[in-house]
Amino acid sequence: MGETQASVPTTRISTFVLAVVFLTLAISFAALIFGINILEQNTEAAWILLMFGFFGVAISTYVLFQTRRRLSKLKIVVPPVTTTIECKKCNFKNVREFQRGDYIFKEGETCQKCNEKMLITAIYREVKEKEKTKTAF
Ligand SMILES: [Zn+2]
Repeated sequence: MGETQASVPTTRISTFVLAVVFLTLAISFAALIFGINILEQNTEAAWILLMFGFFGVAISTYVLFQTRRRLSKLKIVVPPVTTTIECKKCNFKNVREFQRGDYIFKEGETCQKCNEKMLITAIYREVKEKEKTKTAF
């Protein structure tokens, strides 16, 4: 069943599937509520409605979880931002994770070697592909 859908672009699938899933979910809930309401008058029809309702809810939640899993896989991982701090006196360099309020030429923490105030010299986003081409060059 799923094989024919695989050829369709993922973004298209997800919006279409989500629409169908929510429609199925709404109809299933309506069937459940209606089934419960007529349970005393028409037991046979009520059970059929309840069965369809449960089946619909189960199917749509299953599909929803599957699409969500697929979407989370596609999520782009944002590379971390790093801050380079340098000591002007002894040229000691320290690279750490970017912290809120960091800006270039801001006075950072004290130097580990000479206790002098260090300066932030660079803030950049680490992109792994760029590093690869750099080393290949
Ligand atoms: Zn230093």
